[in-house]
Amino acid sequence: MNVLVFAEVVENEIQEITYELVGKAKQLGDVTTLVVGNADVSNINSDVIQVDAGEPLPWHYKIVEKVFEKLKPSAILFGNTLTSIDIAAQFAAQLDLPMATMVTDISAKDDGFVATSLVYGGKVLVDLALKSPAVFVVNRGSFPAEEGKGSVGNVEKLSLEELGVSDGIEFVGYIKPEVEDVDISKMDIVVSVGRGIGDEANIELAEELAEVLGGVVAGSRPVIDSGWLPKTRQVGRSGKTVTGKLYLALGISGATEHVEGVKAKNVIAINIDRNAPIFRISRCGVVADVLELVPVLIEKIREAKG
Ligand SMILES: Cc1cc2nc3c(=O)[nH]c(=O)nc-3n(C[C@H](O)[C@H](O)[C@H](O)COP(=O)(O)OP(=O)(O)OC[C@H]3O[C@@H](n4cnc5c(N)ncnc54)[C@H](O)[C@@H]3O)c2cc1C
Repeated sequence: MNVLVFAEVVENEIQEITYELVGKAKQLGDVTTLVVGNADVSNINSDVIQVDAGEPLPWHYKIVEKVFEKLKPSAILFGNTLTSIDIAAQFAAQLDLPMATMVTDISAKDDGFVATSLVYGGKVLVDLALKSPAVFVVNRGSFPAEEGKGSVGNVEKLSLEELGVSDGIEFVGYIKPEVEDVDISKMDIVVSVGRGIGDEANIELAEELAEVLGGVVAGSRPVIDSGWLPKTRQVGRSGKTVTGKLYLALGISGATEHVEGVKAKNVIAINIDRNAPIFRISRCGVVADVLELVPVLIEKIREAKG
């Protein structure tokens, strides 16, 4: 069977999730990866169709439609990212194809597929049977990326004219924050605050802890939406993904949209609710009030450092 993967490209670079999708797709059949833009495709372990149309934008579902008509794939895989989910949804709706979102596994069955998918905001895991051809929007980290990396196969370069797609919209450029803040995705130690921190004034405590640990402060979306920290510090689906050595979660419940951005090697959580979902992804958890524990922690670390 033919499987089409839609590559995740940001600032002309193929993102890791693309390789995760290609690796899984190769278990299902012959893979072609559709890359929009001019990114270097040499590490993609599949055939590639590359369309020169700037950075991926929502209207690019029209490109996916044309490539779908050309290849007639049985499965089309997208990453569960802010860009790709828009494209996947419009593509599936236009062609009236079955679509599973927040997918964590896919297997071929009879004349279709079974997809394991998170529903109700990630609280419930279900198996869904989909008829072929079907669209899958796959969560980051569901499959290893290694299988999707290697030497690229046949690369076919196509223009929008050749595909018969008219755009009407041109990608001009990203608007970057005026002041370049720290990049939390590249930091080894991140002290992250959630609504449980209670008040803007208490962010200072987290900053002090980050300072003694040699890290930086980040936050969950409600903290950013309240204006307590800049947008560049948001962890999660609509923020950044942290990949360092330590992620200290202070008063964060662990909603699916938040933990999607937590890929640090060690997660330590402090929460007053022993049933908080954040403990499920934590190497170490403390059931305590952050406002009581953090000052003690700062003192003890200072003592230990001498
Ligand atoms: C499309 C979409 C995208 C989203 N993107 C993101 C995203 O990128 N990032 C993100 O974070 N969220 C995102 N969200 C929101 C997400 O669903 C959650 O609402 C959010 O993560 C909750 O933040 P929180 O854990 O800080 O707050 P809450 O869920 O309110 O949790 C607060 C926690 O603090 C604990 N607590 C309270 N007081 C104390 C105390 N004194 N000491 C210790 N613990 C205490 C509570 O027990 C609770 O567990 C998104 C939602 C949607 C729909």
